[in-house]
Order: sequence, then structure tokens, then C-alpha cells
Amino acid sequence: MSKINFNYHTHSLLCDGRSSMEEMVGTAIEKGFDTLGFSGHCYTAYDTSYCMSPEDTEKYNAEITHLQEKYAGKIDIIRGIEQDFGSDEPVSEYDYVIGSVHAMFPYADADSDDNFHGYDRSRYFYVDWDYEEIEKAVNGYFGGDPYAFCEHYYEMVSILPQVTGCNIIGHFDLLTKFSDQHNWFDENHPRYIAAAEKALTSLVAKNMIFEINTGAIAKKLRTVPYPAPWMLRRIAELGGHIMINSDCHYKDMLDCWFDEAAELARSCGFTSIKKITPHGIADYPL
Ligand SMILES: [Zn+2]
Ligand SMILES: [Zn+2]
Repeated sequence: MSKINFNYHTHSLLCDGRSSMEEMVGTAIEKGFDTLGFSGHCYTAYDTSYCMSPEDTEKYNAEITHLQEKYAGKIDIIRGIEQDFGSDEPVSEYDYVIGSVHAMFPYADADSDDNFHGYDRSRYFYVDWDYEEIEKAVNGYFGGDPYAFCEHYYEMVSILPQVTGCNIIGHFDLLTKFSDQHNWFDENHPRYIAAAEKALTSLVAKNMIFEINTGAIAKKLRTVPYPAPWMLRRIAELGGHIMINSDCHYKDMLDCWFDEAAELARSCGFTSIKKITPHGIADYPL
């Protein structure tokens, strides 16, 4: 079994992480990584509390260049970004883009101040903030129907490639983040499965890479990664691609649950995962 010694979903003090970029690199080298990709939270004007400001983004890019030079020959550092659905920031300078839905927006109507791809960006609610926020949104925007919330979420996820220019789908079923603590919908419900399946097949057809994201395990919020095993099996059946990421916010967690994630991927039918190198995207045998 090959050891997974690379991670592409890495935050830092410049957004909501708890380690500096150089500390992340140091720990990656200690853990025997040969590659580390950074993916700071892109700037989102509607909420600046967790993301990189435009000034931070400049610092971020300069720091990546500096670290690439300083650690050349020791580790390959790759320039990525975690691009939110609602962001206007350009992505062309990045080697890869993780597209994520954290904030959700209701549909825009004729009176919307900020119509963004048919969604009203002046009103938002988070899928991953806390359960109370979800409950409020289910009642306030979806008439108390949790499956309407789920359908809306997966519709947004399914158009991430067009909206963000991503090649990787971040934490595909993030809306299950609080499911261990709050049983707010049934993951076996036909409407839930249909909504997820529709998004999944359309994203596989667009050649997107799905990540097995172990971040919520590191935060002790969950005992299993995103996405659910049935989704991984479907991606494998359809010939889709995956990678393994720790969504790292704190350096010690860089390889959290990686051995188990590799085992899970194998058990769901994968024989390889994607690895991003300075020369492009390669297959890494499991
Ligand atoms: Zn995320
Ligand atoms: Zn992240």
C-alpha cells in the first residue's frame, strides 16, 4: 500500500486556518510529504470574516512563490485556491481550483439587487456554520421542507464548474456536516438521493475530481469523511476521479485519516487517486 504523502486542501492564518503557511510546509516535510497544495479561502465580498482579503490574497500568492523557492528540492508546493460559489475573484493564476458551496443563496427575482447566475447574492445562509442556521433557512426559504433545501444545495454544487472555474469539487455533501448531531433529514430519502445523484453524474461528465475530505474528522465533528460511501461507489462506477484531502486548518492534521481514506477509496472500487504535480495531474496508485 502506498502512503498518501500529499494534500491539496490547505488553509492558513491568512484565512481561517491556525497555522502559518510556512508551518504547514515544515510539518508536511516532517511527515514525509513530497507535495503540498495551498487552497486559501478566496475573497467573498458578502462576508469577509473567514476569507482572504484582496491584500491577504496578494500576500498569499507572494508567500507561495517564496516558499516554492525556499523549499525547492525538498517539497513541491502547488498554488491552488478554494473558490466559493459566490466569489467574483479571478482564478486564472492558480494551478487548481477547489469549487465549494459554503454560503447558499436563494433564487434571484426581478427585485434582486445582486443577481449572480440566477441567485440573489444579497441574501445568504451557510450550509456549514451551525445547525440553527440550516433550520432557519429551511423554514425561512424552503417552507419547512428539508429536501427542498437539499435540492437547492445540490443544484448549486452541480453548476460549480461554470460559476467558479473549478476542477475539483470540495466536500460534495457538506450539507451533512451536522447530521451526526441533528437528524434533520433522511439521507436515504428518494428526493435526497435523486438530487445528489443528478449533481454527481453531471459533475463526473464534466471530468471533475471529487475529494474525500477528512476535515470534519480532524475537527471531531464527524467520524466519517465527505462524501458518503454510496456516492464514492457511484463515482467509481461512472469512471469518475477522486483525490484525498484533509481540508487542513491546523498543521498536525495534515494527514488526518489518510490511511483510512485510502482504504475506503479501495473498498468503493478505486484503484488510483489523482495527484497534482508541478507538471500536471497524475494518477497515483492506491
Ligand atoms: Zn470548504
Ligand atoms: Zn477548506
